[in-house]
Amino acid sequence: MQPDDPAPASGPAPISASAEDFQRTLAVVQGRIDAAAQRAGRDPKEVRLLPVSKTVPEERLRAAHAAGIIQMGENKVQEAQRKSENLADLGIHWALIGHLQTNKARSAAAFAEEFQALDSLRLAQALDRRLQEAGRGMDVYVQVNSSGEDSKFGLPPAEVPAFLAQLGPCSSLRIRGLMTLAANTPDRERVRACFRLMRDLRDAALEAGTIGPGLLSMGMSGDFEMAIEEGSTCVRVGQAIFGARPSPTA
Ligand SMILES: *Cc1c(COP(=O)(O)O)cnc(C)c1O
Repeated sequence: MQPDDPAPASGPAPISASAEDFQRTLAVVQGRIDAAAQRAGRDPKEVRLLPVSKTVPEERLRAAHAAGIIQMGENKVQEAQRKSENLADLGIHWALIGHLQTNKARSAAAFAEEFQALDSLRLAQALDRRLQEAGRGMDVYVQVNSSGEDSKFGLPPAEVPAFLAQLGPCSSLRIRGLMTLAANTPDRERVRACFRLMRDLRDAALEAGTIGPGLLSMGMSGDFEMAIEEGSTCVRVGQAIFGARPSPTA
């Protein structure tokens, strides 16, 4: 937009709708990622931004793609599969980031490049079998319940080492690292403790040789800068890019 363009018609809160809007919003988020990495003495290139497109309609995702968003995270397999079919022409990399029931393994194996919420051996085996059938592989993160909150999925931290050690035979799963949602609390130190716990689990697994490159998917719109300070290599950002979601549980 040129500086002398007329002001846009006033309307509801500014949510990115055009590719240009998305480019601006992305630049802001990327700037915050870079600054957090630099504060922590890290190379910003170590931190991947995974835009979380759940609940966002397909037309807006086309605009987001035009702005350079080529990977998207979704938490529901049905919604993700529908989007992957309707947006197939765009070649988007789809990452499933939410809990998956074992009976949805076949659906996930059909289109997702990546699954960040592995939390049971049964599911690992089901995914592996479906992937073998489809002749595909998948990047996988093991989800950890780092906050201990009942509402959260993921393995208890104490079970992570033994779980990772059992995944070897699932040869179509490429184990990339660990994923978590930190405590949902205004207490910043409790949030930070979740991220530190994840880093310690990752370091132990690297030593045991059970976690591939040992990546850490942690940090969302409300806490991604702190997650980067504590070692995150993948931040999953929805609302800071796409605007507030209608329902807090969505
Ligand atoms: C929704 C979601 C996010 C993104 O949350 P925002 O607050 O929109 O940034 C990240 N990770 C998971 C697993 C999610 O379900």
